[in-house]
Amino acid sequence: MNACVQGLYLVAAGLFILSLRWMSDPATARRGVTAGVAAMTLAVVGTLAGLTAGGGTHFAWILAACAAGAAAGYPLAQVPLTAVPQRTALSHAFGGLAAGLVGAAEYGLGFGRGDPAALPSFTVLALVTEVLLGCLTFTGSLLAAAKLQEVRWLPQRPLTWPGQNVLNLGLLALALGLGGALVLSPMAPWGPACFLGLVLLALLFGVLFILPIGGADMPTVISILNAFAGLSAAAMGLALDNRLLVVAGALDGSSGLILSVLMCRAMNRSFTHVLFGAFGRLPPSGGPAPAGSYREDTVDSARQAMLEAGLVVIVPGYGMAVAQAQHRVRELYDLLRRQGVTVKFAIHPVAGRMPGHMNVLLAEAEIPCEDLVELEEINRDLPQADVALVIGANDVVNPAARTDPGSPIFGMPIIDADRARLIYVIKRSRRPGFAGIENPLHFLDKTFMLFGDAKTVVGELARQA
Ligand code: NAP
Repeated sequence: MNACVQGLYLVAAGLFILSLRWMSDPATARRGVTAGVAAMTLAVVGTLAGLTAGGGTHFAWILAACAAGAAAGYPLAQVPLTAVPQRTALSHAFGGLAAGLVGAAEYGLGFGRGDPAALPSFTVLALVTEVLLGCLTFTGSLLAAAKLQEVRWLPQRPLTWPGQNVLNLGLLALALGLGGALVLSPMAPWGPACFLGLVLLALLFGVLFILPIGGADMPTVISILNAFAGLSAAAMGLALDNRLLVVAGALDGSSGLILSVLMCRAMNRSFTHVLFGAFGRLPPSGGPAPAGSYREDTVDSARQAMLEAGLVVIVPGYGMAVAQAQHRVRELYDLLRRQGVTVKFAIHPVAGRMPGHMNVLLAEAEIPCEDLVELEEINRDLPQADVALVIGANDVVNPAARTDPGSPIFGMPIIDADRARLIYVIKRSRRPGFAGIENPLHFLDKTFMLFGDAKTVVGELARQA
């Protein structure tokens, strides 16, 4: 039976790896999700089979936990796409809580046996790592979800005070000290009190870690918390001697870390600045505010310009997600294609509020993924584009990132919409985007604003004349 369980685990581990590989490309992403679900199913079946073979008797508890998980998970799966970042944060909170509880139970059971062989130092090291990361992920993710949900009792702005980093690092050092003492003397009479102290410090650290970070910047931090939850699960795998948990946790942890680094790079922020720098509190721009006034145009003339174009590049952003305009965008795409216009979508890695936000929306509208073009490639095409149509994107097309060293987004890679021959920008007002700064693109002679909700304006553009 054990060989059978290990065989199932091996297949599941392979499927987890393939799942990540396939999910990294929109063309194979659906297959990746199916592979992930299959891997998880095999992991659960294998674990239950192993329990049955070992004479496990706790199936009623396991079934009750499965039912509670399904009852909580079903409504969570129904949230709109704009709420996915906070939904993801809640999932990480549950993952962290599970790891923390399993770790605490394992330590309690081992200590209760009174036999030092039940708690070897390596197991305690794994348990301490698991509980530390699990507990801080739990409170940190709950707070992150609350900030993203913009709950009234929690300010969105970063909460900072003097000596904050010193306090946070001091608490972390204290927690690590308690963990070290437990590893050295797992069976000491003060062990359980020390363990409790470690749990409380980790829970507190999770809160203090998130408070200095602005609500709108939370997606990057969620990716870091994802990595913590994964590493916690890997440590749990070591403590429980479950190889699949080690593999799955390591994959989760490393992919979360890689994603955080990629997001930081795409936003031109350093990793240490995210962790220790009151992320989200952007300094004011040192450069001059762009002079000029908006030029507006009519939907009819914008449609005409696009119908006469050879190449139209559409740049979607957060506003397209807010307006849920993706199906109207599909109608416009169809109209232009029927007239022989080449249409490409410029996908910025941090457009919207979560990684892959634009890909998911455009895939939902069944836009062929070969027309979704990544930043570097589309920037090569943009000087040849007759029209760039910016739909609810702002920061990701802000040329100040290239030209204004005083700008908070200076150095961030952007989509060079300003290099197209003609630019149309759809947004509702003169308000800035996420970074809170003016966008000189809006004041170029060749830029025309189409003020209004993206769904309405794109719907009008897509209407046959
Ligand atoms: P953005 O800079 O936030 O701009 C979005 C624009 O959409 C706003 O100017 C807004 O202007 C407009 N808008 C909002 N609702 C609209 C509606 N219903 N119809 C039409 N327009 C609407 O968005 P972005 O260009 O996509 O850039 C993303 C930003 O988020 C970047 O600064 C990035 O660093 C940051 N970020 C992204 C991630 C990620 O993972 N994707 C994570 C963290 C942070 P009006 O209010 O005037 O309409």
